[in-house]
Amino acid sequence: MVIRGSCHCGNIGFTLEWAGDPAKIPARACGCTFCTRHGGVWTSHPGSRLAVKIADEALVSRYEFGTRTATFHVCARCGVPPLVTSDIDGRLHAVVNVNCFEDVDPSRLDRALASFEGESVEQRLARRKRNWIADVRFL
Ligand SMILES: [Zn+2]
Repeated sequence: MVIRGSCHCGNIGFTLEWAGDPAKIPARACGCTFCTRHGGVWTSHPGSRLAVKIADEALVSRYEFGTRTATFHVCARCGVPPLVTSDIDGRLHAVVNVNCFEDVDPSRLDRALASFEGESVEQRLARRKRNWIADVRFL
């Protein structure tokens, strides 16, 4: 399955190649203060591949907070964060925002609340390594 997505104005676009054709796509509404404010709802699959294309690099704001182990790529023009990346053991991992999907029926999204509070940095990175997209390219 190929999923395309972008921020609202199209400056940050992505193509997600998801192995197989899942009936349901997990969508985690993260309860952290950034995601609550932005409505960030994230998905990933460790066997999937992500290609990110940015039209104007000057219009991307990269935001980090807390443990500073994750980078939110926010469009500086329209304010939408289509993806988050995390560098784990020298390899870039990512999750994408399901609210940025262009061609997925919303009924396929299996939405759930997620809270990652209380994790240590080690636990957090280990979880991302297990679950996040591990094949990430910026074109
Ligand atoms: Zn934008």
